[in-house]
Amino acid sequence: MHIVAKHLTKSFGSFQATKDVSFEIEKGKLIGLLGPSGGGKTTILRMLAGLEEPDSGDILFHGQKVNSLPPQARGIGFVFQSYALFRHMSVFDNIAFGLTVQKRSKAQIKQRVQELIELTGLGGLEKRLPHQLSGGQRQRVAFARAIAPEPQLLLLDEPFAAIDAKVRKELRTWLKEMIDRVGITTIFVTHDQEEAVEVADQIMIINQGRLEQQGTPIEIYKQPETPFVANFIGESNQIGDATTLKGFPAAGAIEGAKAIIRPEFIEVGLPGELPYPSAAEQGVVKNVYFRGTNWQIEVTLGSEKLFAYRSLELPQLHAGDRVSVLIHRLYLFNEDEHLTLE
Ligand code: ATP
Repeated sequence: MHIVAKHLTKSFGSFQATKDVSFEIEKGKLIGLLGPSGGGKTTILRMLAGLEEPDSGDILFHGQKVNSLPPQARGIGFVFQSYALFRHMSVFDNIAFGLTVQKRSKAQIKQRVQELIELTGLGGLEKRLPHQLSGGQRQRVAFARAIAPEPQLLLLDEPFAAIDAKVRKELRTWLKEMIDRVGITTIFVTHDQEEAVEVADQIMIINQGRLEQQGTPIEIYKQPETPFVANFIGESNQIGDATTLKGFPAAGAIEGAKAIIRPEFIEVGLPGELPYPSAAEQGVVKNVYFRGTNWQIEVTLGSEKLFAYRSLELPQLHAGDRVSVLIHRLYLFNEDEHLTLE
């Protein structure tokens, strides 16, 4: 389903849970709504579902305004973090639930449930009750139940939050495969950046009621449009006054800009080790930490402190070493502008 949201605003009392949120989602995409707790992700999902009405703004499905359409008329499937399976119903009956509501024939229901049981790898568990299943199996039943009536949009609210880390990792790759196979537009809420980056076609970063950025995981990582996004996705160093970076004259291009630099875009070397020494800053190693796959180097540049990574193949650095620091990419932000320099 093709979805458009225009200027969605929603308050609870005097608290604005979403502020002027606009986006467009293409049919068949898997979208991750990502951001810190309380940012408004669930509120956006609930407005799409029809469980919450926006105070202002419009929601369009296939170009049709659905603002006042009740949830059951929107062609949506849901999965919530707390499984929400019917406890006294078998796996079969749980999956059949939406089909029964649609008053499909017994034969049709049986065929569709069987199809889903195969698709989700739940064969042999049809007669079990939810408490006789593992967390991962329950989530697969919830998924099968949600897609059984062939919804055009699937909404998942932290679907893996209650599941332990290892199974969660398996489930999310499983989910991506499933969704690719059934080709249904899916939006899932998560506050786990790794989860969003790994499975989503596109990510929407939600913070304090606002949509900070929408893009593919790689776009969001490489071209963050706000300092919040730069800090939230990946690791970063912050430099309060970008003009202190002498090796980057262009850092003065935006007035009063802060700079954000990812540690993986910083090269730290002993004298003579780095190319382009004239573009390098001069710093002093403050601390060196072993990270298993590389060294983390903490280095001071004048009054600023940065951390960077260094290969284990290179000679080890020590606190007090004078080093050259080459910055390969930095992000500049002030109130109204942002710029990526390389
Ligand atoms: P989490 O990751 O913790 O689920 P979220 O990003 O999904 O957070 P929301 O659940 O959308 O955030 O909540 C956004 C804000 O709106 C929160 O501060 C929350 O307390 C508030 N809120 C949500 N629903 C209601 C409600 N029905 N009444 C009052 N406040 C609400």
